[in-house]
Amino acid sequence: MSLPELNTHPSRLRAANHLRTIASLAVLLAAVAILVWGFGRTGERIAVLMCVNVTAVVSLMVFCGNTGIVSFGHGAFMTVGAYLSGILTMSAGLQRSALPDLPAWLAGHELSILTAIPLVSLAGLAVAVLTGGVIARLMGASATISTLGLLIIVHSVAISAREVTRGSQTFYGVPRVTDILFVLIASIIFILIARTYRESRWGLYARAVRDDEDAATVLGISPRRARLIAWTLSGTMATVAGALYGHILGAFSPASFYLGLVFAHVVMMIVGGMASVGGAVVGVIAVTLLQNAIRNLEGGATVLGATLPEVFGLTTIALGLAILLVIWLRPQGIVGGFELGPGADASVLRNIARMTRPADAPAPASEMKLVASGMSKSFAGVKAVIDVSFEAPTGRITGLIGPNGAGKSTLVNLMTGQYTPDRGRAQIGEVDLTKLPPHEVIRQGFVARSFQNLRLFAGLTAYENVLVAALATGVTRKEAHAATMRELSAFDLGDIAGMRAENLPYGARKRLEIARALAQEPAILLLDEPAAGMNPAETDDLANRIEMIGRDRNIGILLIDHDLKFVNRLSSRIVVMNRGEKIAEGTPEEVRADAGVIEAYIGRGRTARAAEHASSTQDRPYPTEGVLA
Ligand code: ADP
Ligand code: MG
Repeated sequence: MSLPELNTHPSRLRAANHLRTIASLAVLLAAVAILVWGFGRTGERIAVLMCVNVTAVVSLMVFCGNTGIVSFGHGAFMTVGAYLSGILTMSAGLQRSALPDLPAWLAGHELSILTAIPLVSLAGLAVAVLTGGVIARLMGASATISTLGLLIIVHSVAISAREVTRGSQTFYGVPRVTDILFVLIASIIFILIARTYRESRWGLYARAVRDDEDAATVLGISPRRARLIAWTLSGTMATVAGALYGHILGAFSPASFYLGLVFAHVVMMIVGGMASVGGAVVGVIAVTLLQNAIRNLEGGATVLGATLPEVFGLTTIALGLAILLVIWLRPQGIVGGFELGPGADASVLRNIARMTRPADAPAPASEMKLVASGMSKSFAGVKAVIDVSFEAPTGRITGLIGPNGAGKSTLVNLMTGQYTPDRGRAQIGEVDLTKLPPHEVIRQGFVARSFQNLRLFAGLTAYENVLVAALATGVTRKEAHAATMRELSAFDLGDIAGMRAENLPYGARKRLEIARALAQEPAILLLDEPAAGMNPAETDDLANRIEMIGRDRNIGILLIDHDLKFVNRLSSRIVVMNRGEKIAEGTPEEVRADAGVIEAYIGRGRTARAAEHASSTQDRPYPTEGVLA
């Protein structure tokens, strides 16, 4: 394989991904094989139920695992799927006696299950799109509660729509599927869809939003759209899972899909580990086996000669205990946050990174200039930024310094659209960034930023953190991969590319944030205190890398820090802020000689040194001497 091909071609990563899909499938196939060949008819019955549970829980995981929002609403989709598929496939004779008042357009279709399923998916898609408009706007507990609301509404409608559902009476005459092969193939298809989605662009977006919604927004990802797509796919799949479940049961009522079932599915998902498809599969297997073991005890049983009393609801109690135990011992579930199977991409990434040259980065197409003019922002009386103007052109490192609380981070937030300015603009050419939606700022390649307090996607690997940023600019997967490898190697992160961000050492996380921003190929890069919390050796190394990037790529860098030495070394022009106002601007020499700056910093310097004597905080005092002298 030639070098450029290796640089850009993610085929070996794809192979690793396929292996992980195969691992999930293998676990399911092994469980089914053991049940069918080892335990006869009973084993086969359990295996059939297990496969249908896999379809339901994998559907649930597509939304919950990727967005981090637990849903109780999937019972609603299952209800729709089971009843609709039942009606479409029922024999006309049975239908006339069971559902005499069925609307004519629904009656007498007698479809085969395979023909009914596409129609059922369409119905599921419609319900998902309608409800997703609301649910995708919400996050966390409010989203969960609204999914519960959906479940309750659909349950009530199913009970009251007697002509279609027989109300709370048993709905019967649904053709039964007892064939293990049919449900096994269905569950394999569900696993393939869920795995493909999870690793896809939209799956990555959803997971990035799950880990840090604000940071994802700044990268140009729309949290609402990412959640809507997850919800729509997941709801459609759950509708089909409901249809399958209905065809297993043959006869059911709205209660069959209500809290009991929903709770069981949520337990399966959480016990296995909700962040991965493999987790969903393992959870289903573990909990289905547990349920069956307990169910035998529920009616009273004889164990080692002792007769156990009959306990009503023992299965539910066991499920509750299972979930408590797992959350206590292994909060990420049995499988943990990763997919089952080899973590092969770690070594693949390492090799690719070694062969990628950081200098391959493209320079901005033309000269650009970030011009902030008259920007002001107050927070309930606190004037954080007062009438600040400055310029940061491409091809130059512009420093922005000022003591803590000077308003530097607020200024960045104003320029990247997290805050709207009270007054003023931040323009590149004729375009006012403060009026542009974040994804436009990113797509047009204007600015990208790092955060003062780390805002990485904790559950994503270092590779995925950078990849998702590159993808958000709208490029192809292949281009995004190339940009990702370039930045990972520019920041010496190739060796740890396969590690999750939350497990990286602090210095690597800080570098990863800059790599993530650079992968978006911005004209102007905003770095908010990139060296904060680093030791002198790390700071020095970072300074070299920033210097190199500024020199090689002709981009503009706005370098923010309260550390004068760091900023002085790198910037050719420096803007100084204090208490929200710009107090000086000029070359490092001019700024050093400025009376106002000396006063602001000497004053702070004394305070800082005094504070350092008083308590041994980790904050370094400002290096006023030596720099200002
Ligand atoms: P710097 O980055 O220079 O240390 P900041 O921009 O973080 O300073 O803060 C400037 C001032 O604005 C501080 O007084 C801070 O408390 C205030 N501030 C910043 N963000 C907010 C906010 N979201 N709500 C209220 N006050 C804020
Ligand atoms: Mg700050």
